[in-house]
Amino acid sequence: MRANDTIIAAEQRYTSGLYPKRPVAIVRGEGARLFDADGRVYIDCVGGQGAANLGHSHPAVVAAVQAQAATLMSCPEIFYNDQRAAYLSELAAALPFPARIFLCNSGAEAVEAGLKFARLLSGRRKIVATMRGFHGRTMGALSATWEPKYREPFAPLVPEFVHVPFGEVEALAAAVGAETAAVILEPVQGEGGVRPAPPGYLEAARRICDEHGALLLVDEVQTGFGRTGRLFAIEHSDVAPDALLLAKSIAAGLPMGAVALHERHGPLPGGAHGSTFGGNPLLCAAARAALRACLEEDLPRQAAEKGAWLIERLRALRLPAAREVRGLGLLVGLELRTRVQPYLQALLERGVLALPAGPNVLRLLPPLVISYDDLDIVAATIAEVVR
Ligand SMILES: *Cc1c(COP(=O)(O)O)cnc(C)c1O
Repeated sequence: MRANDTIIAAEQRYTSGLYPKRPVAIVRGEGARLFDADGRVYIDCVGGQGAANLGHSHPAVVAAVQAQAATLMSCPEIFYNDQRAAYLSELAAALPFPARIFLCNSGAEAVEAGLKFARLLSGRRKIVATMRGFHGRTMGALSATWEPKYREPFAPLVPEFVHVPFGEVEALAAAVGAETAAVILEPVQGEGGVRPAPPGYLEAARRICDEHGALLLVDEVQTGFGRTGRLFAIEHSDVAPDALLLAKSIAAGLPMGAVALHERHGPLPGGAHGSTFGGNPLLCAAARAALRACLEEDLPRQAAEKGAWLIERLRALRLPAAREVRGLGLLVGLELRTRVQPYLQALLERGVLALPAGPNVLRLLPPLVISYDDLDIVAATIAEVVR
């Protein structure tokens, strides 16, 4: 039996069953390449579902994790810690607005915290989210998420959430009022089909929130840390959110999240929220190394240039089966006229790993360190498969 098959059979027996799994066992990664248990190499355009902007096993992160693992792995936030102190100040310096930072362990947790902070600070309940928005799977985050098949089995969700069409200023203005605690949105909808916000939308959302005293929560869990061509996607505008929600690539693939809360809200009241693993020193050491590497290697610029190149290359293919190529930086979507699922399998068989975004969008989310040669192979393989 192949090594892949042995692993797949063993995992199948006790796995939760929740994930539609691809028939391959990934055991090693390097840069934008992944290797399966039989030694086959793949070009990775899944990028850890957005967690691997920096590439797999980046040597600086590996070294930081190894050193910190041998020093201190656990230290809750009731104590101060050197790695956390350093990371908070380094992340704060990289943010485009002055902030205080809450550290947690995932994207959904960053969203949960953002929603709780908005209700706490505003004293209001209503949350305005967007159609096709994705914010995670826990009950609060799921209440902001739009996709009915994720939501319906778990109703009733948290009350007082409404969804408005993404990108439509008038609908947003009509939904926000004196009872609104917050508006939550993504600068580019990722899971919802790779849809960048139209020009002026974030600015309009900021103005509408200001008019009514609501908080603006910007979910950059997928768009953060260089993905869209800026360190944070809000930097394509001059909008400062009340809270920026971060996770995925924050710690180079390790589980971590953060809420950067605008300094104008001051420190939060003690005991209002918390997390055992939040601010964990091992994760802070990894996140420090990841942020430093991201800035030193200028990953935002790499994403901007490579993304523009890839979008151009895919458009030039003029694939009859494709309706549109769109994206921002290296968050690229190819909308098809048919369902995407069979193409994902065909790409995998040819050594390219890619993601869906909704039923008929092929989403490419490669590590930002991917080479142009690999991007060229990706485009050629798509041309071969999507016909
Ligand atoms: C992935 C994602 C989340 C949820 O993050 P998890 O770490 O999977 O909980 C939230 N918001 C956006 C925009 C995402 O892409």
